[in-house]
Amino acid sequence: MKGDRAYAAGRARLNSVEGLVRQVLGWREFIRIYYEAQMPEARERNHFGFTQPLPAAFWDGEIDLACVGDALHHVRTRAYSHHIQRLMILSNFSNLTQTDPRDLHRWFYLAYADAYEWVELPNVLGMATYADGGILASKPYIAGGNYVHKMSDACARCAYDVKQKTGDRACPLNYLYWDFVAQHRADFLENGRVSLALITYDKKTEAEKQAIAASAAQFRQNLPRLDSGWINDRGQSPDP
Ligand SMILES: Cc1cc2nc3c(=O)[nH]c(=O)nc-3n(C[C@H](O)[C@H](O)[C@H](O)COP(=O)(O)OP(=O)(O)OC[C@H]3O[C@@H](n4cnc5c(N)ncnc54)[C@H](O)[C@@H]3O)c2cc1C
Ligand code: SF4
Repeated sequence: MKGDRAYAAGRARLNSVEGLVRQVLGWREFIRIYYEAQMPEARERNHFGFTQPLPAAFWDGEIDLACVGDALHHVRTRAYSHHIQRLMILSNFSNLTQTDPRDLHRWFYLAYADAYEWVELPNVLGMATYADGGILASKPYIAGGNYVHKMSDACARCAYDVKQKTGDRACPLNYLYWDFVAQHRADFLENGRVSLALITYDKKTEAEKQAIAASAAQFRQNLPRLDSGWINDRGQSPDP
């Protein structure tokens, strides 16, 4: 292979060869084949059965979670955000707020400069939201505030406290994460890659579990959403 020879001859760095082999020849091609094999059924999959329309912030950018606001700012100003913001911030927030993944897919398709359906749809409905029930990815990609705190500088600028677990000042990703784990026991129980989260949840006291459920329900109830016809007002659906 060309990359191998260039690396052996000292003309290419290891991280460049790795990028070409794993990401472009490997991952990108895998995505293409998934799309060829799974369409058109893949477009309507919704494994968790979420029905909430997209949070309004995805369109107007107004949200007081700094990590989500930062990622949306990138998209609104550059029609782009990097991979981890797509996966672990925006899609995570969509999952944790029980947003219909097909709505998220339509938004990604409209909002990103690099969105072609064959690559955008498998990433959103396969990888990021687990809407296909695990055909593409081996686990749901969800995270609480601790992950975001380790990976970014957003928490220092946020209205919420990443160290608090429940209540008005607590980082919403914290209680939304645990509520997601509690509500999807079957998926977590059966999957060795994520079952540790369920074991950790089960060790919480009843009072902690109730506080998590109450904070999560309140947050979701107060989250402004677009109306369900938003796609018709703002752009064309990717449906042919
Ligand atoms: C929710 C979500 C939506 C996405 N939507 C799109 C999209 O509409 N169009 C698009 O091209 N990519 C999409 N991606 C994949 C990935 O985020 C972008 O290809 C990546 O941000 C490009 O950044 P980079 O050049 O820094 O890539 P690097 O991370 O440096 O990777 C190098 C190259 O590998 C390929 N690649 C890496 N990861 C993926 C992946 N998951 N899927 C396909 N190719 C990959 C790309 O060609 C990329 O340019 C999406 C990912 C997620 C999680
Ligand atoms: S405190 Fe929570 S919501 Fe705020 S930036 Fe950190 S992870 Fe995001």
